[in-house]
Amino acid sequence: MTVMTAAPEGLQAWAEEVRDLARRRDAVLLAHNYQLPEIQDVADHTGDSLALSRIAAASSASTIVFCGVHFMAETAKILAPDKTVLIPDAAAGCSLADSITVDQLRAWKAEHPGAVVVSYVNTTAAIKAETDICCTSSNAIDVVASIPADREVLFLPDQFLGAHVRRTLKRENMHVWAGECHVHAGINGATLTQQAKEHPDAELFVHPECGCATSALYLAGSGAVPEDRVKILSTGGMVDAARASKAKQVLVATEVGMLHQLRRAAPEIEFRAVNERASCRYMKMITPEKLLRALREGRDEVHVDPELAARGRAAVQRMIEIGQPGSGE
Ligand code: SF4
Repeated sequence: MTVMTAAPEGLQAWAEEVRDLARRRDAVLLAHNYQLPEIQDVADHTGDSLALSRIAAASSASTIVFCGVHFMAETAKILAPDKTVLIPDAAAGCSLADSITVDQLRAWKAEHPGAVVVSYVNTTAAIKAETDICCTSSNAIDVVASIPADREVLFLPDQFLGAHVRRTLKRENMHVWAGECHVHAGINGATLTQQAKEHPDAELFVHPECGCATSALYLAGSGAVPEDRVKILSTGGMVDAARASKAKQVLVATEVGMLHQLRRAAPEIEFRAVNERASCRYMKMITPEKLLRALREGRDEVHVDPELAARGRAAVQRMIEIGQPGSGE
């Protein structure tokens, strides 16, 4: 079973087996928007990482199979410590989450005693445990604005999101870690500006929930593309906007996996990726075969040290309490 999409009957048999094994395991299947289309289609829920974590915590299933990258499955485990959390490939990492280590964060904190640490949700459980408040792209501004103006802020790890927040709030005492996601490289100012020029009637959707779109967010805010054509939207907002849009063409500045949900929601619109190569190799490590293996063999199980989880949970809960952190599906 290698290329599922090449044989529809093979794909159907695979999907039936996945559903059957999930039922027997009392598992809920969650798929991030950047997963392969067949995995999105077989899942119980598809959405952004936070929306999926909330579903994970609220689900009555005893097992969560998280089709996404490792920090997302960890966040689900932090929020649902009593459930078994499986990820089809534990090696599915995130270059943004990997751009800061715990030792680096501790050293940074030591340089700024008393500073409030704000971490984007794309971080490991160990970093979350050293964090005061987590944020998503949707509520990053609200989170930083909630911190008293005289307190220093350490914002990590995404430099584009951090720069966007700093500029919006005109906050001088906010320090930003110089991390980034490898998919950023494909969605740069030149590509965005060129695409906007080539498609003058197209709307531009920027999905900020994953780090890959934060450079687009920054560029849209800096005037690199006309502001009235740019919509900064969470996953749910993007799908809703697609349904409501009168545009014939929409340029999508995010990881290419998102196109599948949008085309399903509004088949009459032509959705074009700002960069076709903006594909996350880690997300694509979750294959149909590995999902089947996860359900058959109960692997790879995600563990988070309970003490780390308890500290990280406080930061994640504060994120959920502030603003509207992504509407998800
Ligand atoms: S697209 Fe970038 S930020 Fe998102 S999971 Fe992949 S590496 Fe991480």
